[in-house]
Amino acid sequence: MNCSFCGKENNEGIKFCEKCKSYLSPNIERGKDRKYCWIYELNLYKNFTVLYTVWLVLGISFGLVLIVAFIASKSVKVLIIFALLFVAIVIISIIAYLLYAAFHGGKYVILFEMGPKEVVHIVAPKDFSKDKKLATGMGVVGALTGNLSLIGQSLYQSNAKSMTSVYKSVSKVKSVRRRNVIYVSETLNKNQIYAPSEDFDFVDDFIRTHVEEAKNQSKNKAKQNNK
Ligand SMILES: [Zn+2]
Repeated sequence: MNCSFCGKENNEGIKFCEKCKSYLSPNIERGKDRKYCWIYELNLYKNFTVLYTVWLVLGISFGLVLIVAFIASKSVKVLIIFALLFVAIVIISIIAYLLYAAFHGGKYVILFEMGPKEVVHIVAPKDFSKDKKLATGMGVVGALTGNLSLIGQSLYQSNAKSMTSVYKSVSKVKSVRRRNVIYVSETLNKNQIYAPSEDFDFVDDFIRTHVEEAKNQSKNKAKQNNK
């Protein structure tokens, strides 16, 4: 397999380029800017991470309202009404989710850019196809060359929805392998990084190592400043 970064031809089955140590995978490219890029197609009917996220937010706010209402009224009736409301909200959110999934053609295409300082989640436009790497009418430069990091740049510039996690501000990394997702959390934002099963370990390890390094660096800096 040809290394996307330095061009060296490596034997099949080798995971890291023999010349430049870049990770080798048919799904992931390493651009000239040294960042790893890949496209992930989230099947909204198989992977319910988006729904779980909605439930988490709803659940927390609902729980808080329930506690306040119960303390204020001290009545069991309130609990029953809340239980019924809760069931209704769950059913409505499932219907809303299925409509949302249908509206997106059952999938959600995301482009990821992972560098030494940060990892970026960029939502691709609805008509973006993983195989064609083409977004019609978007003026996507990279589409012509099939170069993922160029596609990422032009999507970024076209104000596509994106979320950046800078490693040094990350407080927690949590991986859920069976849903192919790595949650990269800062105090107020929780980024979701998806990776194909066969590349999951590499991405997970890369993010964890870099978050750890960034933390150690800022600790050392703090120590030096204290001296
Ligand atoms: Zn290489």
